[in-house]
Amino acid sequence: MIKGLRALSTHFPPLVNRVVDAGNLCVACLDPAPTGLCQACFNALPVNRKPCRRCALPLPASAPEAALCGDCQARPPHFRHTIAPWLYAFPVDQMISGYKYRRQPSLGHPLVLAWLAQCGTALAPSGDLPQLLIPTPMRPWRQRRRGFNQAEDIAEQLGRQLDLPWSASTVRRVGPQQPQAGLQRRQRLRNLGTAFQVHGPVPDRVAIVDDVMTTGATARAMARALSRAGASDIQVWALARTPLG
Ligand SMILES: [Zn+2]
Ligand SMILES: [Zn+2]
Repeated sequence: MIKGLRALSTHFPPLVNRVVDAGNLCVACLDPAPTGLCQACFNALPVNRKPCRRCALPLPASAPEAALCGDCQARPPHFRHTIAPWLYAFPVDQMISGYKYRRQPSLGHPLVLAWLAQCGTALAPSGDLPQLLIPTPMRPWRQRRRGFNQAEDIAEQLGRQLDLPWSASTVRRVGPQQPQAGLQRRQRLRNLGTAFQVHGPVPDRVAIVDDVMTTGATARAMARALSRAGASDIQVWALARTPLG
């Protein structure tokens, strides 16, 4: 099936467009699949095999189990744990970009269900699920233009499946910011310095929800704001993680 997926790679987006409304078919191979992703294609997703135990950065295969990346050792983030089961690589990247930029839930929702299947037992590492799911907010102008924040949609789907509340109004982006794309990591962190404001009460245990964790700068800045607002146990839940470089 991996071979099949690779062969499909150049045809993937048009193929996916064709099956958007077909329902009950795997978005990758068109086999029957009630969740939108068949078992074989689920098994072929690019697993993040050796994640940093704090930020889920993919570490070299030779790293010890549950190791910390250099960044988390040098500057521990305010979140204690990140769940990001897949690498941002084919076909996860194609599914997420169709979900996000072409607003196709039929590409995103199968990944959310697959995420629950993959991570179910890791969701409450200290025994308690988060009390609130908080999607990463978009800049208001971007959300107005796109009309859709995939992080909110993921939080809503996870909230429904896990019977957990979610809130898109607890954390807002504020202040003028340059677009992140094209900035170096250090500039990104500075750019995000005061970018998040927390509104209203925040429970002890929260999970930041996003589609992809890239540098981790956004999650770090959000977790810092949530920690200042009183959250004491912060996790990050993402579908995928981008490898360094
Ligand atoms: Zn399939
Ligand atoms: Zn790390």
